[in-house]
Amino acid sequence: MLSRKELQRYSRQIMLPQVGEVGQQKLSAARVMVVGLGGLGSPVALYLAAAGVGELHLVDGDKVEVSNLQRQILYKVNHREKPKAEVAARQLTAANPEIRVHAHPHMANQNWLRKRVAEVDLLLDCTDNLETRYSINQVCREVGRPVVMASVRGFSGQLISFDFSTSRSPCYACLFPPRQQREPLNCAGAGVIGPALGVIGSMQALEALKLLLGLPVASLARLHLFEAETLELRPLQVQGNNDCPVCGQNQRS
Ligand SMILES: [Zn+2]
Repeated sequence: MLSRKELQRYSRQIMLPQVGEVGQQKLSAARVMVVGLGGLGSPVALYLAAAGVGELHLVDGDKVEVSNLQRQILYKVNHREKPKAEVAARQLTAANPEIRVHAHPHMANQNWLRKRVAEVDLLLDCTDNLETRYSINQVCREVGRPVVMASVRGFSGQLISFDFSTSRSPCYACLFPPRQQREPLNCAGAGVIGPALGVIGSMQALEALKLLLGLPVASLARLHLFEAETLELRPLQVQGNNDCPVCGQNQRS
């Protein structure tokens, strides 16, 4: 049962047939991990907290720097030198004291993810680190948790989700085999336009809410490419790869 306070706070989404009181209860019961609290993680975490996702785990080992403020909308000048995960947790709690927010002020390595991902219902990959992305892909598949992944470089963004809790989903390594990948430039090296992160981060939050509500999810195994210069959004179906080192049939004994 939702409290009177919750009915009031979430009234504008509860009145939607896609959400309703039942949907709001699902969101309140949900446990979600956000890895990376930068340009994508900022809108993602703000929207999930505002929507009343009951438990948020925020994972980031970085501290706030002045050069983050151009795009990482969770932070203000007085947060400089403070751990992002802890600042973000305080900001979200201030926005919505009805939810539980846990800060994990360290990087998400594979061992840590193996211990913690089973304790949440869904994960959002908001990192700009390829090694972490492969670890998240691997662990979410092992544990059977859905994941919404995104990245933005310059004016170009991409978004894709995998639901490893059901059937035979392809995975990120099917799409981008690890041995063919070189570490791409991160935002520090390549530059990025802030609002493109807002667009893609908002789409990530949308897809996460739809997954939690049990609504159809357009980005499931479909890579969405967004060009901020033309506003073009292009979906590409992803096929499973039999030789995938993470999920491929040919790799199984
Ligand atoms: Zn795969």
